[in-house]
Amino acid sequence: MTTPEAASFVVLGGGPAGTTVATFLARAGRDVLVVDQESTPQPVVGESLLPFGQRVISALGVSMDGFMVKRGAVFTRGERSLRFPFEDAVRDTWSHAYQVPRAEFDARLRTVAQEAGVRFTWAKADRVDLPEAAGEPVVLQTDQGPIRAGFFIDAAGRRKFLARQLGIRELHPVLRNAALATHYTGVRTLPPEVEGDIVIATFEGGWFWLIPFADGRTSVGLVMTPSCGLKGDRWAQALALCPQAAARLEGATCLAPLRGLQDFTAYAKRFHGPGWALAGDAAMFLDPVFSSGVLLCLESGERLARALLAGGDADPTLLDAWEAHLRASVKPMEQAILAFYDGSFLDVAYAPREMQAERYRRGIISLLAGDLFEPGNPMPFRVAARFGTLADIVNRRPVAG
Ligand SMILES: Cc1cc2nc3c(=O)[nH]c(=O)nc-3n(C[C@H](O)[C@H](O)[C@H](O)COP(=O)(O)OP(=O)(O)OC[C@H]3O[C@@H](n4cnc5c(N)ncnc54)[C@H](O)[C@@H]3O)c2cc1C
Repeated sequence: MTTPEAASFVVLGGGPAGTTVATFLARAGRDVLVVDQESTPQPVVGESLLPFGQRVISALGVSMDGFMVKRGAVFTRGERSLRFPFEDAVRDTWSHAYQVPRAEFDARLRTVAQEAGVRFTWAKADRVDLPEAAGEPVVLQTDQGPIRAGFFIDAAGRRKFLARQLGIRELHPVLRNAALATHYTGVRTLPPEVEGDIVIATFEGGWFWLIPFADGRTSVGLVMTPSCGLKGDRWAQALALCPQAAARLEGATCLAPLRGLQDFTAYAKRFHGPGWALAGDAAMFLDPVFSSGVLLCLESGERLARALLAGGDADPTLLDAWEAHLRASVKPMEQAILAFYDGSFLDVAYAPREMQAERYRRGIISLLAGDLFEPGNPMPFRVAARFGTLADIVNRRPVAG
């Protein structure tokens, strides 16, 4: 092969997770090679970012110039629409995010990584040979030949390359949704949304996302629960059930064929082992309803780099701590996602204002802003653990127990 065949750290995947961990390792002087099958980033889903993702994005030094600014999220139910402005979060450290066509965003991440000294090579990985004895290298087998790594990081996305090979990939027991995605032009903005907001338009059995870009295009997706009952032309049927999405798409032009996605909510049972670790979707991906995917990639990548630079490649307790923090930080997001699908999230969010404690409303917005990884704001954790009880209160049902 014409590409380098060894590095201290080999990262599979040049998406948000892989470029983040690679950049921070390279900036600390480590020898890092990113392996990706695509020399140019492809358009993918995952286009709506969360404000607290800006902590890592700004540390990376990625310019967000030209991307659509996102200041809030609108959730519709029936005829009603409710806006969550990020400026009302408990902490407004990061009060806005961006809507990013992913090929462009990922290209900027790769440029920053290259500037930090990360090397890239283009190859499709087939298998990883893990060391049988301490001190032996990991060998990544690719269609361009083997690549030897002192330490291997799988950041190759939701197919969970290494977790599948090791038999440690688990689908979520409850969240088994499927999605269709495309881009439109000419999508309408309707009150109460402010230009740049993401819209989540719900209906019985699923929801649409509408993510506006600065160039006039809008990413539109449909997420369907297993019991949605849609068959045949599921897109048209879902639009008929969701007047709020249909009104925004009236007169708009679809720019690309629908792309189907499924089995996306899955975890690896372990995030690291001797000579390897997982970052981003390769470790875990939750349902997309709260747009948390790229935030998890950035946080897992940056914190993995920190743990490795502290000696985590030789001391597994450092990676244990990294994994435990990641799982604990993600827990409220999972609780909120489950509450979204059992209806309690929207029951609480839509409760009459006089029934809402302001601190809970702001806690929900903190959660939607992704304020989960740094200490000092317990509200998103408290509110996420109580959606069921709060829904019982606003619906005036007897509280269990
Ligand atoms: C329906 C849906 C909607 C979503 N919406 C959002 C959203 O609005 N906001 C959000 O933040 N997140 C969203 N996500 C999640 C988001 O898409 C992911 O969290 C994010 O893209 C994962 O980044 P990553 O770096 O882990 O992997 P990826 O971005 O998938 O990058 C993986 C890289 O690895 C490379 N690769 C893969 N396999 C191989 C191989 N065998 N050999 C060589 N290279 C390989 C690929 O070419 C790719 O460049 C959504 C997900 C779904 C399913």
